[in-house]
Amino acid sequence: MSGEESQGGRLLDGKALAARIEASLAAEVETFVEVCHRRPRLVVVLVGDVAASASYVKSKQAAAARVGIDSEVLQVEASVQTVDLVTLIKRVAAEEHGPADGILVQLPLPKHVDERAVLDAVPPDRDVDGFHPENAGLLSQGRPRFVPCTAAGVQRMLIDAGIATAGKHAVIVGRSDIVGKPLALLLASRGSGGDATVTLAHSRSTDLGEITRSADILVAAVGRPGLITADMVKPGAAVVDVGINRITDPVSGKSRLVGDVDFDAVRPHASWISPVPGGVGPLTVAMLLANTLVAAELRLGHRRGS
Ligand code: NAD
Repeated sequence: MSGEESQGGRLLDGKALAARIEASLAAEVETFVEVCHRRPRLVVVLVGDVAASASYVKSKQAAAARVGIDSEVLQVEASVQTVDLVTLIKRVAAEEHGPADGILVQLPLPKHVDERAVLDAVPPDRDVDGFHPENAGLLSQGRPRFVPCTAAGVQRMLIDAGIATAGKHAVIVGRSDIVGKPLALLLASRGSGGDATVTLAHSRSTDLGEITRSADILVAAVGRPGLITADMVKPGAAVVDVGINRITDPVSGKSRLVGDVDFDAVRPHASWISPVPGGVGPLTVAMLLANTLVAAELRLGHRRGS
């Protein structure tokens, strides 16, 4: 038995997969540039000065640069009103700030801002986060256009690892519009990475452990460190940890990122497990780049098969 096997579940290495996706996207971007004589371009609206949001945006920009996608961040004061944000997004869409194939608004927004109104202002054909109701509707009808990036990343991770989903019981803990709900639709949809029987658990679910113990594939997308303990996992299950939580390590006293899964305790029981960091996070960014390229291709009519 190798060292890795003796620890239990094999690692779902999101960082390595994202690097492979980036390499193929970079080649596709160059083809786009040859045909269209410009680069795809992503515009990010960043409101306020939340450190985590700024760091996510920075990593999105760095990844965009690696694959040859141009990007611009429009920084807005935290005191901005909903109406002004909506106006800004309309101006971005009218390309007053340069080409805007993909437009995204970094969440969360300040409490006083009507998040729904702001997200709805992003034109659905530039909505690379997949949060517009038109894109949510297309996904629910099984004809996805822009799929929310984290959900798409989790499905891609399962497909890449060869983890069978057809006929399997997938339990997703967390029902948000940006992760849990779209992932439930993806895993239940027909075809590769789908055809699963899906349970969507949430804060009002009773006896969460009983539900999660019946999962062949368990996805945690809650935002609570240590929520998924070893006794909640069926032996041999594939465990995907979407959660990102900053904690202070009780031993070292240093701040670090952890997921929702008690990684060290769960790993011996799992067949596969994704780490935090280095799991779903890098794939979320890779899927954003893929969506941005698709948006650019769709707009210019150069999408293969369109
Ligand atoms: P959210 O707060 O919108 O939703 C959390 C969900 O968890 C809710 O549906 C709620 O019902 C459920 N929940 C809360 N407490 C629960 C409990 N005790 N038992 C069962 N369910 C419970 O969060 P979100 O935006 O979906 O994000 C979830 C987590 O995923 C966060 O940690 C976030 O930082 C992380 N996240 C990671 C990525 C990534 O790229 N890896 C992307 C998005 C979000």
